[in-house]
Amino acid sequence: MNIILLGPPGAGKGTQAARLVAERNMVQLSTGDMLRAARTSGTDMGRRVAEVMDRGDLVTDDIVIGLIREQLQSDADTGGYIFDGFPRTLAQADALGQLLSDIGEKLDCVIELQVNDDVLIKRILGRAAESVATGGQARADDNEDSLKTRLLAYYKQTSPLVGYYYAKGDLKTIDGLASVDVVAQSIAKAID
Ligand code: AMP
Repeated sequence: MNIILLGPPGAGKGTQAARLVAERNMVQLSTGDMLRAARTSGTDMGRRVAEVMDRGDLVTDDIVIGLIREQLQSDADTGGYIFDGFPRTLAQADALGQLLSDIGEKLDCVIELQVNDDVLIKRILGRAAESVATGGQARADDNEDSLKTRLLAYYKQTSPLVGYYYAKGDLKTIDGLASVDVVAQSIAKAID
């Protein structure tokens, strides 16, 4: 079972992916996490994308497609892949279809987490405030300016994927505003 979690920043993709990993032995592939790891470890690529990420824009298709290509394995003995934050453009969606078919796999389901934008903004700024309050550091892109750019990037570049996967017959839309447990149940229902 290979699935995509699709939705704007703050929709709960990461939270739900973590549950699927714990409950179904699935493998989470988050390009956002991979890019942050590349920054932390100070790789060349990490340095190149830092500014783009902090601004809230998308990094190039080549970079993220390359990251996903490195992770996909044909003989992985797991419950399948959860693509979290990837694909974010139509070019990435096409590339993913090709990469999966190259390893003899296919996409089984695309789950769109639908949320209201006002709630989204409150969630993300709340996440930043909570990190700081607990002695941690907020994500560099969890501030109002970057958030606005990230939302625009979502609507301009990523939201066309909703229609793309609907037309392919892969799309399941879920109310992402319900509690974490209820959203998890809806996802389970969609993929079982
Ligand atoms: P995320 O953790 O998924 O919100 O991603 C954080 C940031 O990483 C995004 O705002 C982008 O700058 C970059 N990023 C993550 N995934 C992608 C992707 N699939 N395509 C382009 N940029 C991405």
